[in-house]
Amino acid sequence: MVKQRSALERIPAYKQGAMPSTSDVVKLSSNENPFPPLASVRDAVAAELERIHLYPSMAAPELTARIAELQGVEPENIVFGAGSVEVATQLVQASAGEGDEVMFAWRSFEAYPIIAIGAGATPVQVPLTHDERHDLDAMADAITERTAIIFVCNPNNPTGASLTHAEVRAFLDRVPSDVLVVIDEAYEHFNRDAETAIGIDLYREYPNVAVLHTFSKAYGLAGLRIGYAVAQADVAANLRKVAVPFAVSALAQTAAAASLDAEAELANRIDDIVAERARVTSELRAQGWNIGDSQANFVWLRLGDDTARIDAALTEAGVLARAFPGEGIRITIGSPDANSRALTALAGVHAGARG
Ligand SMILES: *Cc1c(COP(=O)(O)O)cnc(C)c1O
Repeated sequence: MVKQRSALERIPAYKQGAMPSTSDVVKLSSNENPFPPLASVRDAVAAELERIHLYPSMAAPELTARIAELQGVEPENIVFGAGSVEVATQLVQASAGEGDEVMFAWRSFEAYPIIAIGAGATPVQVPLTHDERHDLDAMADAITERTAIIFVCNPNNPTGASLTHAEVRAFLDRVPSDVLVVIDEAYEHFNRDAETAIGIDLYREYPNVAVLHTFSKAYGLAGLRIGYAVAQADVAANLRKVAVPFAVSALAQTAAAASLDAEAELANRIDDIVAERARVTSELRAQGWNIGDSQANFVWLRLGDDTARIDAALTEAGVLARAFPGEGIRITIGSPDANSRALTALAGVHAGARG
């Protein structure tokens, strides 16, 4: 056996949402956007295909300038990655190594422990509150000399709970100024909570805050891999140092720019998804399920020991959701038809199982 890092034995494998094996199956397991690509985005990507024999621009100057303007920051504060997962990896690599702690709520985004252990750091998982939210007080209490970076996922994947601006400010007031706090806003476009924390405002107020955004969810570009961080210039410069060179393809950059040109059209789609979320939530409640308000493009059923049985019933009905054994099931808001199939399947589950 060749030399391999022993820390990797502790990395949980990233579990991709189940992939459908037949066309009669609906995939509601990966929080993907149910709408097909916009024609304008597809055309822009098709034109860019002429240049796939060339390396992409690493600096992506035009897209960087546009995003900087959108966020009201300087271009030096924007760093792209192949999805915000890659940018999260850059953030951890730049902040934490052997002996350092990477803190996040749990359960939250499953990439966080993978990234932390991959960097040689120690993941510190702080349990959610009983109402499925980050326990920010417990997180602040858990900060040690070794804490290097903290992820705050708002709204949280997989529970959909959002944090208020006041709550996150109170938390940031307790975090030492040399600890980087990353606010992961992958689902921000679906968030209708008027009180929610606004990452970019917190970034302006607290120099130790960075914000993560992605084109994968609301913009429907999960397959092209592009996301970005807004960070202070010194942090951003370090992110560029650890970034995988040329990871963000020109196709992805082009699609992102074309999506920014189509914001109004995309906003309509987001509104449709949010309306479907309301329908799914109220129908599930009418069926007797106990679910919270999700501010993301999925709903969360806390099912505990019933998780496997109900997931099996969904699978049997051709609905692929994301089950976390012993905890619960996350169901993506898909097309109205797909959502109705999930609702029908859940209505058929024995009433005694309802949480
Ligand atoms: C989906 C998701 C991302 C985005 O992943 P990409 O790499 O941009 O596709 C980031 N954070 C969370 C919490 C997510 O659920």
